[in-house]
Amino acid sequence: MQEFDALLNEFTKELSPYKKAEKEYILEAAHWASSLHGKQKRASGDPYLIHPLRVAEILIKLYLDYNAIIAALLHDVLEDTEVTRTELRKKFGKEIEALVNGVTKISLIRAKSKTVQEAETIRKMLFAMARDVRVILIKLADKLHNMRTLEYLQPEKRKKIAGECLDIYAPLAGRLGISWIKNELEDLSLKYLQPEVFKQIQIWVSERHKQHSQYLARVKKAITDMAAEAKIKIQLEARAKHFYSIYKKMKKTGGPIDEIYDLLGIRILCSTVGECYELLGIVHNIWPPIEGRFKDYIAMAKSNGYQSLHTTVMGYDGKLIEIQIRTHEMHRTAENGIAAHWLYKKGFSKEIVRPEDIPIINQLKSWEDTRGASIEFLDEIKQELLKDSIYVFTPKGEVIELPKGSTAVDFAYHIHTEVGNHCMAAKADDMIIPLNKELKNTQVIEIITANNARPHVNWLRYARTSRARSKIRHWLNQNDANLIIDRSIVVKKTPVVTHVHKPLKEKKQQPLKQVLDKSKIGIRSGNERNLMIRIAQCCHPTIGDAIIGYVSRGRGIIVHRADCPNQAYIKDFKERMIDVEWETVSPKAAKRFKVTAKLTSDLFSEIEGALRKFRGHLIEGKLEDSTGETLNGFFTVELDNQEDFSKVLKSLRTIPAVVNIQPVQMF
Ligand code: MN
Repeated sequence: MQEFDALLNEFTKELSPYKKAEKEYILEAAHWASSLHGKQKRASGDPYLIHPLRVAEILIKLYLDYNAIIAALLHDVLEDTEVTRTELRKKFGKEIEALVNGVTKISLIRAKSKTVQEAETIRKMLFAMARDVRVILIKLADKLHNMRTLEYLQPEKRKKIAGECLDIYAPLAGRLGISWIKNELEDLSLKYLQPEVFKQIQIWVSERHKQHSQYLARVKKAITDMAAEAKIKIQLEARAKHFYSIYKKMKKTGGPIDEIYDLLGIRILCSTVGECYELLGIVHNIWPPIEGRFKDYIAMAKSNGYQSLHTTVMGYDGKLIEIQIRTHEMHRTAENGIAAHWLYKKGFSKEIVRPEDIPIINQLKSWEDTRGASIEFLDEIKQELLKDSIYVFTPKGEVIELPKGSTAVDFAYHIHTEVGNHCMAAKADDMIIPLNKELKNTQVIEIITANNARPHVNWLRYARTSRARSKIRHWLNQNDANLIIDRSIVVKKTPVVTHVHKPLKEKKQQPLKQVLDKSKIGIRSGNERNLMIRIAQCCHPTIGDAIIGYVSRGRGIIVHRADCPNQAYIKDFKERMIDVEWETVSPKAAKRFKVTAKLTSDLFSEIEGALRKFRGHLIEGKLEDSTGETLNGFFTVELDNQEDFSKVLKSLRTIPAVVNIQPVQMF
């Protein structure tokens, strides 16, 4: 075990930024990891322990707190050793357990295919499952070390891992603003995906290195002298472009590598924002700037918080030089992105820094900006990007994206129509769940099928996706004609309500179903609003109908249509009659439409489903069977805007049973 002692000693030296007690705790974890991984070896033949130690070191470089470092040291113990979550929790507490478990769960993800969309799904998935951003940072460090040691794997495996890295993990690092990890992951991916191109760039860069460095020395001297004259203390860095960005430029221009003009890069670091602009003036004084190449990311920071001035100038011998000017603090943000804030805002405090504590650097961000991440990414990504979707696993670890609110029925039909049609029960994380239960992010969903199981008409109400609904409808139509009218939603024919001695003279339409949300729609009598109301069961008034109220004894106001023929049979109607009016509680958002459809069982759930998709709400509605063949109905719905309303109507028009659907004026 001498070998281990040497490794652990070396690791101890890296821990200087941490307090004594923190250091001891970290070392305890390191020793435990060493005994747990024991004789396990990496593909390189090295002891496995090297891997968690290196991963932890990467995170130390990102200034993460000691809990994250401990979790990094233990990140593989749940997957690769006999240790259980309970043991881990007993030894290092809940927080570490949650971090390690989060990282372990991510490694369960299996990409089905490597399409861009799949990569995007997985990326969203990662964010969805990481309740704590440190989980993602540990995973990135894990990937980085694996990529650094990729040469020891078989070529086929290398390519697969490198491809996944380029699709998912490098952009993830970019979104978090950790540019050095992003760059290194991209370069390493390129090395294994396009070994020839990589070599070509490598040769080209090294051939020019000497020539470049002489040239850059001249440039540096000129800047240093002028800055000294202006009494500004600066630090200068020659900036080598990373290989992958050269590769991208080659692909974009399609031209030979020599024509890629902005390979010469200089970075000037100073202390204040004022100095940045002063230095910009100095640089433009020495060399003329190229038009259209100046960017002020100090005034307008990138969405991941990146700030800097960029300019390109015509340097000596007509060569173009790309110059970045920024303060030291901006530089730390540029290099370490989101992680920079752990250190510089809170230091190595014991207090756990929650992502929501991270200050919003830039209000002018658009998430679409793929140049980088939003610093308050949990707020933005979770609330914006993930607001409409959830991500669940199959038992094999495949990621399935479903709309929010989806149930096991949606999941089953997503897997396969036959799985849906024979779905008997479902399990989420090994627990049986009801089929109408909303699925939650990151659950592992298992569908239990049986040969004699078959869809039930109620499933139409459980299903959130149009795919599942149309499959269920299809099955019902094919297999069970009796179900075409869903009896559960047919309102029983009620004899005319009270005080009525004779049946209705004319046959009135009987509603199949009526809803009225009393929180959204009301009846007003003069200025009196809080009336106890009931809708008359004889004439079923609906919004827009002229109405009249009848003050009953102890049952509130019964609202009839003004032309209800029963008035004549209610003996004290005239005495007890009051004027009433319809009133929507949110008249602005309310929209109304009219439907004609063939007799079908699930028009109501179709309408409700279409509304849910746009976060709308059914305020009131009624379907009537006028001829025994056709349904007529009016619906009042609440939707945020006209555009969504049009989309809802459009989607309802695609239902085969719908003959006609038209918006109508609100009253
Ligand atoms: Mn690992």
